[in-house]
Amino acid sequence: MKIIAGNWKMNGTVGALRDMYAGMSEIQTNNNVIICVPFTLLNIQGSNGIEKPTNLSIGAQDVSAHNNGAFTGEISAQMIANTHAKYVVVGHSERRQYHSETNDIVREKATRALENGLTPIICIGELMEEKQAGKTFDVIECQLRNSVPANQSGIIIAYEPRWAIGAGLTPTEKEIADAHALIAKTLESMGLANTPILYGASVKGSNAAEIMSIPNVDGVLVGGASLKPDDFIPIIESVK
Ligand code: PEP
Repeated sequence: MKIIAGNWKMNGTVGALRDMYAGMSEIQTNNNVIICVPFTLLNIQGSNGIEKPTNLSIGAQDVSAHNNGAFTGEISAQMIANTHAKYVVVGHSERRQYHSETNDIVREKATRALENGLTPIICIGELMEEKQAGKTFDVIECQLRNSVPANQSGIIIAYEPRWAIGAGLTPTEKEIADAHALIAKTLESMGLANTPILYGASVKGSNAAEIMSIPNVDGVLVGGASLKPDDFIPIIESVK
């Protein structure tokens, strides 16, 4: 059983969700399949004449670090938990890059998610400059130690090399294996052994099975190839 999570980013309409539900309702899978949709689609099932298939869970893509109050435009973990969502992505590289989210902010967001019964999918990963400077391991260990709430199980880590996201680039098998081994070892030292670790960046039907056969890769976080059932379902069906 693998975890196959899609991140729709700022894409998706009710029609696109309906298409995904229709595609998913035609397949059987033992994998844990999640799609992280825009806030506007978190509570669609049951309305608009569409029903979420039981083989699919819903997640959000971000959450406020605050509980409630004067934070115009923000969405709290309690609000997300009040929809059908069970998961939330935190610390995605696009949030770190375009919204200046630090490890401390990411940790606060993950804490709010856990307090409200959501599973945070905490993203970490190095920039191209950091990779070229030989700092990949330092960066991912530092992000992990500082973005993950202390002594909290019930989280998922997504390792996404930032230089590979949306670029059609993938690290070598050895690079993925080495990064995931470091993450697993670090999590163990933090008392979080057995935390699932996903790989993300340019995953598609043609490389998903190979990536998920690498040790310590418990699943994938998929961006572009999660938007359409024709691209996403082959990834889900590539592993048992
Ligand atoms: C992502 O943004 O989380 C991601 C993995 O994107 P892509 O699959 O498009 O590289």
